[in-house]
Amino acid sequence: MVVSSGYCAAQRRHQGEATVGARSGRNARGLLAGLLIAALVSLACAGGGLAEPDGERPAPQASQAAPGANTTRADSTTSVAEFKQDVADAQAIAERYWAAQFKASAQRFQPIRRITPYQRSGEVSCGGQPLPRNNAVYCSQGDFIAYDVAWSVGAFRQVGDAFVFYLLGHEYAHGIQVRLGINYSFTIQQELQADCMAGAYLGDSVRSEALTLADGDLDEFRDGLAAVGDDPDQPWFAEGSHGTAEQRTDSFFRGYERSLEACDLG
Ligand SMILES: [Zn+2]
Repeated sequence: MVVSSGYCAAQRRHQGEATVGARSGRNARGLLAGLLIAALVSLACAGGGLAEPDGERPAPQASQAAPGANTTRADSTTSVAEFKQDVADAQAIAERYWAAQFKASAQRFQPIRRITPYQRSGEVSCGGQPLPRNNAVYCSQGDFIAYDVAWSVGAFRQVGDAFVFYLLGHEYAHGIQVRLGINYSFTIQQELQADCMAGAYLGDSVRSEALTLADGDLDEFRDGLAAVGDDPDQPWFAEGSHGTAEQRTDSFFRGYERSLEACDLG
């Protein structure tokens, strides 16, 4: 994922991209320990405006998957600094993207207030509810995104840099839903729309050349989305449902290819 000039650290990103792309292309397939990633996004999603970390999958699943991640990427040199830069880049591009969308509708845009990494359980709370480890969430009460940094870096190393842009885009979309007053009856509607909006933010940013995909980035999206689907047994209407792998992939790429018109924003 290359961030074009005009965005922060563009030079450094251009320097590093060959490595990232090569890594993605070579290793994107077959490396996913689906458990970690499934836990990542199932826990990552706050149920949209409800802003409660959904806990339908227990955090220990992610811990159990972590050693697998270490094994598969033992030779990885992907640094925490690079991860943090990707988060910052994804945030900057999301802010510019949504500011432009709101401006086009003659609406004032307030960026999400902050993006907060945390390391310990309970270090950050959302609406009085302490956030556990192995989690990421958009919290509407405080209008912020928070994520367990060690856990998120693990997913970054496992899937690739494109997944960081997807994850940030998805959580950011929940903040946009709140701004637009969108509050569906079922969690799955809120989540699939956030996937579509994340796709639109990324597809439009590629089309405007704010972002350039490296080899393997599309595979990272596909493989990441394929791994984050709900259990086939999970009822679609259950609180905390996000959609099957197929539904999530379809929603993301509908937005990616056709922009926000595909996302039922009304
Ligand atoms: Zn979500």
